[in-house]
Amino acid sequence: MIISTGTASGKSLAYLTPAVASCLDGGTVLYLTPTKALAADQLRALRELRIAQVRAACFDGDTPFEERTWVRQHANYVLTNPDMLHRGILPRHAQWSSFFRRLRMVVVDECHGYRGVFGSHVAQILRRLRRICSRYGSRPVFMLASATASEPGAFAKRLTGLEMDEVTVDASPRGSTTFALWEPPLTELRGERGAPVRRTATAEAADLLADLVLADVRTLAFVRSRRGAETVSLSARAKLSDVAFSLSAHSGSPRPRPHTASATPAGHPDPASATSPHLPASTTGGEPHRAVTQQTTASAVSDPPSANGWADLPNRVAAYRAGYLAEDRRLLEGALRSGSLLGLATTNALELGVDVSGLDAVLIAGWPGTRASLWQQAGRAGREGQDALAVLIARDDPLDTYLVHHPEALFGRPVEAIVLDPDNPYVLGPHLCAAAAEIPLTEDDLDTFGPTTADVLDGLVSQGLLRRRPAGWFWTRRERATDLADIRGGGGAPIQVVEAATGRLLGSVDEPSAHTTVHTGAVYLHQGESFLVETLDLEAGVALVSDAEPDYATFARDVTEISVLESLRSHPLGRGLLHFGEVEVTRQVVSYLKRRLHSGEMLGDEPLDLPPRTLRTRAVWWTLPAAELTALADEGFDLGGAAHAAEHASIGLLPLFATCDRWDIGGVSTELHADTGLLTVFVYDGHEGGAGFAERGYARASDWLTATREAIASCECERGCPSCIQSPKCGNGNEPLDKQGAIRLLDTLLGS
Ligand SMILES: [Zn+2]
Ligand SMILES: [Zn+2]
Repeated sequence: MIISTGTASGKSLAYLTPAVASCLDGGTVLYLTPTKALAADQLRALRELRIAQVRAACFDGDTPFEERTWVRQHANYVLTNPDMLHRGILPRHAQWSSFFRRLRMVVVDECHGYRGVFGSHVAQILRRLRRICSRYGSRPVFMLASATASEPGAFAKRLTGLEMDEVTVDASPRGSTTFALWEPPLTELRGERGAPVRRTATAEAADLLADLVLADVRTLAFVRSRRGAETVSLSARAKLSDVAFSLSAHSGSPRPRPHTASATPAGHPDPASATSPHLPASTTGGEPHRAVTQQTTASAVSDPPSANGWADLPNRVAAYRAGYLAEDRRLLEGALRSGSLLGLATTNALELGVDVSGLDAVLIAGWPGTRASLWQQAGRAGREGQDALAVLIARDDPLDTYLVHHPEALFGRPVEAIVLDPDNPYVLGPHLCAAAAEIPLTEDDLDTFGPTTADVLDGLVSQGLLRRRPAGWFWTRRERATDLADIRGGGGAPIQVVEAATGRLLGSVDEPSAHTTVHTGAVYLHQGESFLVETLDLEAGVALVSDAEPDYATFARDVTEISVLESLRSHPLGRGLLHFGEVEVTRQVVSYLKRRLHSGEMLGDEPLDLPPRTLRTRAVWWTLPAAELTALADEGFDLGGAAHAAEHASIGLLPLFATCDRWDIGGVSTELHADTGLLTVFVYDGHEGGAGFAERGYARASDWLTATREAIASCECERGCPSCIQSPKCGNGNEPLDKQGAIRLLDTLLGS
């Protein structure tokens, strides 16, 4: 069964109750979560129940060796993560035999985290787990908990390989939240090809934060990077000290209405985003500034102006840094709770470790990627059932543009599904080896691992990884089979990201992504901290980085060629034809773009010298017959530019339908493709073997491409900008692009 409901709707209670009952009944429970931190939280919650018969323990990389034996032999509620299950538990199943024999329930918590390539690996690990259980004669119930998503039952079936019931009705009580969708205005600045530059989400967030703090509203602003969070905090403080200065100068006279410069975008076309940035009256009972005003009056009587409450205003805003000690975090929580701190700008790092629920308002600078993250962040506002405010501030990309113009995509039925592809042979192969090493594979196991298993097994035998004998398939090599699967990476040799000054290993990036994320000169973000890549040495597999806080972001740009290997499925789409199939992609990162963080201004395009990379993956593509295009060509539209613009925007919009990042996918468009002989637009999975994103695009093509058309049409720029058809990762420097042509082309395709 899968429970897919909102944050704080009581999902844990729903699985804890039967799980604890299983323990009381003599059974065991396996609890899986994507991170160690969450497992530790759950363990604390379980222990607070004080039920003697529940012997709960974490089993992960941090569990001391001497405790492990105890856990295996005595614990009846084991909390772990997929990595440990894969490397530590399944390969040593014999040591866990009494646990597996009594296993009644497997809880898969926060399972929306299991998406893309990582999710595909977890799906195969769960199939291995099911095989081990049946070896010991148990058939546990799988209980999954997920944030809201569309089609949770179908996702759960893909993840576990089992038929699933879904529970999606959320009847939990909560206060109301006023949600504002905010689109920053276009500015006078000009970007690539003379495109107008939109005011940045961080600049708008700083203004809104200052306004809210002035109105005595406890506010949390979510910003993507630590550097961005600091900019927001500094700029809000500067605005507040201007206000404090002018107020102390007018001390005694009626207080001017605080209004930070350019906080109200002029000439806004969208009513959803045209709300005043000042607080809705509901939150402070009709007098937004009352609390602050009283404070002034009180202090103006007793104190000289320099020491009054206004002068202190800027100090009531701070930025939260990753890497705070627990003690500092508790201080910060206390300050926010007491109201001595009113505004906090933070990265998502806050989601791990600080408890600051119960604020009045939340600002979210840029779409956080999924509805799950959006609701999680917005859910921080709302004290004890009181009403709250949440503001999503759009960044300049097509998806954000679409969302602020289409509230129904956020507040209606979820459109975004959690996507994975367990049949990817690059994922399946290593897990078949691991499974064979656990217990030799037989014909009976083929069904468990999916329809492509027989083919993949043949391949493994011919590579000499498995041996075929009459009794089945055997792992006969000396090394550990589990080492073949890099479940958090995307395959290929990982590039180590190392801090040059200290030798500290910050993380690793798979080889295909390294070209785009850690090329020389890239700004690399790690847990909200920013680093500058000094050199990328592909041969040594190392990217050396240094701690730096440049005031710009970098975007790698690539040129791509694609050839069709096989169309697996196709059907007519409007007046065109839609395909899903296998492709070979050759990508080369050729340069990177630098853009100033606070203003969005272009700082130039730096060339890079990286080798091309070939990728076998899956793609969705559409074609239009030449006869449908003559009218457009006659009207003077640039067909190549129209297809290119449609490709960019459709890459931007696919994450709304498949939980991916715009950087997980890529595209190619051409007026005439050699393999199709027609105008063709491709969108492909950027991971070896595919990750399920293109497949989802195929399944939802009509909705996806309609949304793409809408995103382009709703942007008020004239000839294209980063909010609609320009892409920061375009290796052709966003040339050619034809905005009106793209709208017409999509109309032609969709038959409207
Ligand atoms: Zn635009
Ligand atoms: Zn392009």
